[in-house]
Amino acid sequence: MADESIIAAIATPAGQGAIAVIRVSGHGSISLTEQLFRPRYSQKTLSESKTWSILYGEIHSGNEVIDDVLVSIFKAPRSYTGEELVEISCHGSVIIQKSILNLLLRQGARLAKPGEFTLRAFLNGKMDLSQAEAVADLISSSSEASRKVALQQMRGGFSLQIEMLRERLLNFISLVELELDFSEEDVEFADRTQLKLLVEEIVESLGKTARSFELGNAIKNGIPVAIIGKPNVGKSTLLNVLLNEEKAIVSEIPGTTRDSIEDTIHVGDLLFRFIDTAGIRQTNEVIESIGIERTYEQVRKASIVLYMADASESPDELLKGLGELAQGTDIDGKVLILVLNKLDLLKCKPETQIIKKKLSGLHSADFDVIGISAREKEGIDTLLQILLQSGNFKNISAEDVIITNARHFEALDKSHQAAKRILEGLDSNLPGDLLAMDMREVLNYFGEITGHVTTDEILGNIFRNFCIGK
Ligand code: GDP
Repeated sequence: MADESIIAAIATPAGQGAIAVIRVSGHGSISLTEQLFRPRYSQKTLSESKTWSILYGEIHSGNEVIDDVLVSIFKAPRSYTGEELVEISCHGSVIIQKSILNLLLRQGARLAKPGEFTLRAFLNGKMDLSQAEAVADLISSSSEASRKVALQQMRGGFSLQIEMLRERLLNFISLVELELDFSEEDVEFADRTQLKLLVEEIVESLGKTARSFELGNAIKNGIPVAIIGKPNVGKSTLLNVLLNEEKAIVSEIPGTTRDSIEDTIHVGDLLFRFIDTAGIRQTNEVIESIGIERTYEQVRKASIVLYMADASESPDELLKGLGELAQGTDIDGKVLILVLNKLDLLKCKPETQIIKKKLSGLHSADFDVIGISAREKEGIDTLLQILLQSGNFKNISAEDVIITNARHFEALDKSHQAAKRILEGLDSNLPGDLLAMDMREVLNYFGEITGHVTTDEILGNIFRNFCIGK
């Protein structure tokens, strides 16, 4: 049975701000708040006011005024949760926030559990599960690109795609299952050619969306970058320069600390994350060549590889170093940027174009060669521009459906496999009842994504990760 209690929580971050917002949701939350609120200037009480009104007034406890507040009311179903909902904007003092919350609890509301407002929004059909999860992503998005992706998902781009495929498939399942009722008569209601076209479309679409997970994950957690190269070429110097530039930018924003963004930098809309930097920083470690397992591991985890070398190295030496790397691990499919450091020690600049041409056989994709001086901070801006332009991370448009959530990826991947089995089944003229099983399986996984098929356990896992007030 649906939980009909009135829930309340502070929706703004813990601590003191200019204002704070306290949310109350559930049938009766307007009249509950009314008992603590005296409007000023308005002739109407909260209950008499229209949905989406904001009333100015005071919250009192008996004769004592606690604070001057603004109360926004949302009548069901036109609210975030789909239920009657009240938002009280008060001054940001922690004492005021707690006093108001306590008054609400004393009036009969109970403290909301983590994510409970969003859970109710889901249960009341205001959003599907993938949209609810996107709310969490949107709130925690730390770069412009991750915000765009989360917003697109919250607005239902991904859900819509799944829903459209689901409906069309459902249509076919009904026909195939109908055939089973007439199994004696050997009829075919579901046109197999049409069905095959649809399933091919599903396989392609699911494959594409599942593949976007790598990109989505990179956007959400930072695009993984490995800085590799022989000892003493200046890797840690470069890393410090990059991170310190970020520190300078970030420390201008009050309240931000360096710790939380350790080894990540924001460039333009994107967040980049440097892999395994502890290793880079231990510069006195004995490393004989770049062909060590750790380097390979870094490369494997990276989307972008910054291969650093001394600018005084001859093209042949570079070719040897890079060749070793390419032999030891698969660098194709990664964005490769060759960084020639210590430009300040050279009399003339390296011929990057010639070097590029010489090395072009080593990497199938185009790659950049750039000269810098990490110590003199020369060429750093150009390097950042190259990072920003690299790979398919640029130009993420608001329309792209990009998966950022591991749960969705898993369900997509499984539905992709099941859809491929339908195709195989169609090719080998599998009987309708077996086809229908694979089709049902695809539908089930779709349902797991959108929440059509769900269990308390799945819901519990998802909403536990929200914070209270969401
Ligand atoms: P790593 O072993 O690759 O991490 O190299 P480090 O960053 O520790 O640098 C090795 C040495 O090269 C240090 O003495 C740095 O000061 C020096 N170094 C790094 N970058 C430059 C540069 O751009 N120009 C010059 N002249 N020296 C540099």
